[in-house]
Amino acid sequence: MYLRQILRTQLHGMRTVQLHRLQRVCRAEVAALKIIHLILINFLFSSCAALHFENDCPTSPGGGCGDSAVPHHQERPLCTKNDEVRLAEEASNKYGSPAPTIFSKVIDKSIPADIIYEDEKCLAFRDISPQAPVHFLVIPRVPIPRISEAKDDDAELLGHLLIVAKTVAKQESLTEGYRVVINDGKHGAQSVYHLHLHVLGGRQLAWPPG
Ligand code: AMP
Repeated sequence: MYLRQILRTQLHGMRTVQLHRLQRVCRAEVAALKIIHLILINFLFSSCAALHFENDCPTSPGGGCGDSAVPHHQERPLCTKNDEVRLAEEASNKYGSPAPTIFSKVIDKSIPADIIYEDEKCLAFRDISPQAPVHFLVIPRVPIPRISEAKDDDAELLGHLLIVAKTVAKQESLTEGYRVVINDGKHGAQSVYHLHLHVLGGRQLAWPPG
């Protein structure tokens, strides 16, 4: 009787360990699938953007709907064409027809992104390739290509982006501090030409950066 109880306990323990292993494998597979999905979408969008310019397509670049703040994980409304046209016109007048980037698609919600904050001027979403336990980007809805092309009258918007970075960092519980980075141009290793603030935290970061 006693022996049977011991055997039953051991059997139960083995099953739990196997179950945990299976759960870990499943989680890893789901994460891998998500990354592949986003990479494919990025690739598709880059191809479409290239075609767009090769054909000198007259449709507008940029995106964004100017909706008021939408809390995290709520269903997100789609932008109207009018909003897109307005934002693109604004950018075109100020920055000389900047090319649309993948971030325009994040703004107009035609590709999925993990958006953790948005208001009428900007949004914040998790980086697809995080370099720290918490890594999100804050971008203006108006597609300013890079910080070096910002105008004097962008001062208020730029200040707003910093305030949003701070607010979302708090929301993400980065109580031990974090880093805010803007890469500009070739030497700054900028890869997406739609101004964005990186906010990185959740681990000790080294200095100086590479
Ligand atoms: P940068 O090199 O400063 O231009 O940074 C661009 C960042 O955008 C990189 O960290 C990328 O991982 C990130 N990124 C590119 N496409 C996406 C996307 N679709 N969703 C989220 N982050 C992205």
